[in-house]
Parts: sequence; structure tokens; C-alpha cells
Amino acid sequence: MAENQAVCQCLNCNRPETIIPLVSLRYAGRPAWICSQCLPMLIHQPDRLAGKLAGAEELAPAPPLSS
Ligand SMILES: [Zn+2]
Repeated sequence: MAENQAVCQCLNCNRPETIIPLVSLRYAGRPAWICSQCLPMLIHQPDRLAGKLAGAEELAPAPPLSS
């Protein structure tokens, strides 16, 4: 996949900022972007991002919200 400096893409689904809101994040000293639809996966199922976000397999999922 070619690196495109002009348009940021979701690290999970690769959708560009031109069609979906992207949230900027930093992890392990590296910047990354994730879209609003993939953000819950980063929070609750970060292991599913292994191979897409470096070190994601080390992240512990957030506990479910109590209501
Ligand atoms: Zn996404």
C-alpha cells in the first residue's frame, strides 16, 4: 500500500478522511488515525487490530461500561 501523505486513512479499514471522520491518535511514539466506526474496536477489541497498529496485541481491552 502506497503511503499517501496528503490524505489520512483509517489504520483498520483504510477509509480516507474524505469519506469518514478520522480520529488522530499516538501509540508507541507513532501517529495513526482511526475512523469513528473502528474506534470502538480499538477500545474494546484492540487485539483485532494486531498487525494493523504496531503493538496492538499488547493492549488490554477496556472493561465494559456499567449502567
Ligand atoms: Zn476504520
